[in-house]
Amino acid sequence: MNAHILDYAAVGIGPANMSLAALAHPVEGLRGAHLERRESFSWHPGLLLPEATLQVSLLKDLVTLVDPTSPFSFLSFLASEGRLYRFLAADFPAVLRAEFNQYLQWVAGRLPSLTFGADVHSVDFHDGAFHLRTGEREVTARHLVLGTGLTPSVPEPFRPLLGPTVFHSGEFLLRAPEVTGRRIVVVGGGQSGAEIVRHLAAGAAPESITWVSRRSSFLPMDDSPFANDLYTPDYVRRFHALPSDHKARLLERQKYTSDGIDLQVLQDIYRLSYRDEFIGNNPGRLRFLADCAVTAIEGDPDEWKLVVESSGPGPAPAVLAADIVILSTGYAYALPDFMAPLDARLRRDSGMLVVGDDFSVAWDGPAENRIYLQNGARHSWGVADPNLSLLAWRSAVILNSMLGETRYSV
Ligand SMILES: Cc1cc2nc3c(=O)[nH]c(=O)nc-3n(C[C@H](O)[C@H](O)[C@H](O)COP(=O)(O)OP(=O)(O)OC[C@H]3O[C@@H](n4cnc5c(N)ncnc54)[C@H](O)[C@@H]3O)c2cc1C
Repeated sequence: MNAHILDYAAVGIGPANMSLAALAHPVEGLRGAHLERRESFSWHPGLLLPEATLQVSLLKDLVTLVDPTSPFSFLSFLASEGRLYRFLAADFPAVLRAEFNQYLQWVAGRLPSLTFGADVHSVDFHDGAFHLRTGEREVTARHLVLGTGLTPSVPEPFRPLLGPTVFHSGEFLLRAPEVTGRRIVVVGGGQSGAEIVRHLAAGAAPESITWVSRRSSFLPMDDSPFANDLYTPDYVRRFHALPSDHKARLLERQKYTSDGIDLQVLQDIYRLSYRDEFIGNNPGRLRFLADCAVTAIEGDPDEWKLVVESSGPGPAPAVLAADIVILSTGYAYALPDFMAPLDARLRRDSGMLVVGDDFSVAWDGPAENRIYLQNGARHSWGVADPNLSLLAWRSAVILNSMLGETRYSV
């Protein structure tokens, strides 16, 4: 193999590809490059609210479930920063997301294979290797690992209006809207919407906060033991082997094991609403519209008018006036634009990428050159795919496949 051809090039440095880099680090002779467009690591910075917590155990870090002895674990981070005893004494019910972000930044600073400020804008395959181009350099590698994360979903009616007063929840802290005296509508009844509602409701500033959800109620995440069993290697392997139509049915049924709202956040919101109504003398400041869909938006940045269709029994206004509209409407996987030259060579089933046992995408290129997919295969691997739970395990599966040996027990 040509000396300048790396073993692999990984695009995107979120937790998924950082886990791969951390587990690859001790593997002698393995040469990989990790490329990230951001100038430095930050974990969903637009939603890094100070009170937000992880929805999973701290053991579901970048490495621990595959290699508890790794120096890149969350516990190693706490120890290295001299906080182990204080962390124990603080006894947080869940790890603060801001602290997990510090951990991820700490790991990022210790892995020489990571390059920030490298936006991959094209990739091609020839002469037995993938050729990736960023603004400044070309990287050539035998395998490609896609870890570019999910893309914010914005429903059609809002798309032409995106800007300072209508935006996706992922931009909340980056937009930092002035909320004092404003009427705010949060669209979407999942975890991001809940976190933003809690954050806004805890302050006195907004005139009103209306939370609209299509769901029949503001539904909790099922975090019970049998639901958590769906987030294990054993289960996802069995899921992966099922026919696609069966998988689609299960995904719908298992939705609330990850897409529901953390119970603590729901309790906080309910108590804030109670406080407004009975103690703070501010009844009606917080409004909850379940079973409602926003079907259209009219007006201009001086005043938006949202057309609401209700399918439930509760009273709901037909039109909602708003100064700021926050779209907590989720995320979906989209193949990154730089893959356009290879797109037609990837195999699909009913429009979805075919992803194998080792997380490689079926394609018409040589079998010794693989395209691995991190966090893009929910349709194929199940509800755990976008989650932190199996991050380390999936990276270990990919590494074993690249190495052609069982370096990590999976
Ligand atoms: C606010 C929030 C909180 C979450 N909290 C939890 C939780 O508590 N527990 C849990 O299990 N899951 C959680 N998740 C889900 C999931 O764990 C995270 O989304 C996680 O960040 C996914 O990691 P990733 O590496 O796949 O993608 P991302 O973290 O999205 O990283 C992808 C990276 O790729 C980069 N990139 C994209 N295109 C290019 C390109 N062309 N060139 C170079 N770089 C590129 C992006 O800049 C980005 O940094 C959360 C999700 C969100 C949105």
